[in-house]
Amino acid sequence: MAHQQERRHAIIIGASYAGLVAAAGLKCNGWSVEVIERAREPLRTGGGVVVQKRMLEYLTEHGVAFPGVASIPAVERKIFRRDGSIMRMPESAAAYTSWDVLLRELEQVVGPDTIRRGVAMEDLPDWGAHGEVVLDTGQVISGDVVVAADGIGSRSRRLLLPGIQPTYAGYVAWRGMVNEDELSRETVDAFVDSLCSYQGERSSILLYEVPREDGDIRPGRRRINWVWYQNVAPGDELDRIMTDTDGYVHHTTVPRGVMPPETLTVMRDLAEDDLCGPFREVVLKTEEPFLQKIVDLTIPRLVFGRVVLIGDAASLVRPHIGSGTAKAVDDAIHLAHALSDDCDEDLSCLAAWEHTRLDDHVGLAGYAKAVARRLNLGT
Ligand SMILES: Cc1cc2nc3c(=O)[nH]c(=O)nc-3n(C[C@H](O)[C@H](O)[C@H](O)COP(=O)(O)OP(=O)(O)OC[C@H]3O[C@@H](n4cnc5c(N)ncnc54)[C@H](O)[C@@H]3O)c2cc1C
Repeated sequence: MAHQQERRHAIIIGASYAGLVAAAGLKCNGWSVEVIERAREPLRTGGGVVVQKRMLEYLTEHGVAFPGVASIPAVERKIFRRDGSIMRMPESAAAYTSWDVLLRELEQVVGPDTIRRGVAMEDLPDWGAHGEVVLDTGQVISGDVVVAADGIGSRSRRLLLPGIQPTYAGYVAWRGMVNEDELSRETVDAFVDSLCSYQGERSSILLYEVPREDGDIRPGRRRINWVWYQNVAPGDELDRIMTDTDGYVHHTTVPRGVMPPETLTVMRDLAEDDLCGPFREVVLKTEEPFLQKIVDLTIPRLVFGRVVLIGDAASLVRPHIGSGTAKAVDDAIHLAHALSDDCDEDLSCLAAWEHTRLDDHVGLAGYAKAVARRLNLGT
């Protein structure tokens, strides 16, 4: 049995969804927690996200105050057709918020003092025995468990499973957000309180409303979050659009603000050609779109001695089923459950966790691929 009286210590690499939820969950279970985050400021990578009810319930059950996330429910699903008609269905599944709003709340729950920003994990030299982490400052820290939540390009994964790389799925997602007060009244009205989609000849777009950065959810003061998929063959064409204003070719994401004018023109020409009116207006009025290459990855193991991979570090699910953040949150919550007082000193309790999570990852990845095939996306 573990030393029930001693507080066990967890080092968490990455202060995004997986890392912060794991930190909150482990704190609930009496662990001391130290989060290492490479970025000095919270990242601005994401757009809209589904509010994770399971996460809110879990934290509330464990006595952690969650201040309340500004969100907008989609009450209707609208499929805009090429002939101009709209198919409508009730939609009760989800409330949407934005990445920045939710992460800000999570940071408050974990406690900003727990997070060391601007410090990166450099190496995991003794993961089997002592859970050692070498930081880029040269400092070596160790924990009873090291939770690697360092995302899509995970250095932890590369150290633990050298040679395993995400594979390109054959399509990209153009993404962005635009303030509603920059759009025409007709367009805002067309999309209000709805999850909306349109399938063009060469692309497929989905959008919904999310709160403004300051949390404002009044109609007309919200933002529209859009994700727009397009098949792009690997090779020169893909490399060209993944290149930023400095000439750097990005592996997975061309972030906001560094998309060169020629790539913006490629995107805008596609919008003119392949989107119907309101969707076209949303894309054309977005000032800082970003671009994401869709990639696949599942791995055979999640537990490596004292180091555990979770979230995007552990596996990648295509975005169609809204489960990137959901999976990260599930990995983290179930991990916190597994690492309860009953968990042995050698962490053998994690074998069952690993088995269940690997099954889930494979199931979700397969389901998301099937959705992509229905939309004619990918290879
Ligand atoms: C461009 C982009 C946009 C997305 N938009 C959405 C969206 O709108 N909605 C949605 O539901 N999902 C979105 N996703 C998917 C979603 O981001 C992920 O599934 C989810 O964020 C996974 O969370 P995570 O905590 O595992 O990883 P991440 O969110 O990637 O976080 C990893 C964290 O680890 C830190 N880190 C990395 N390396 C180190 C290191 N060596 N040392 C210390 N810290 C390190 C990073 O700075 C980062 O903060 C998007 C993904 C991408 C790539």
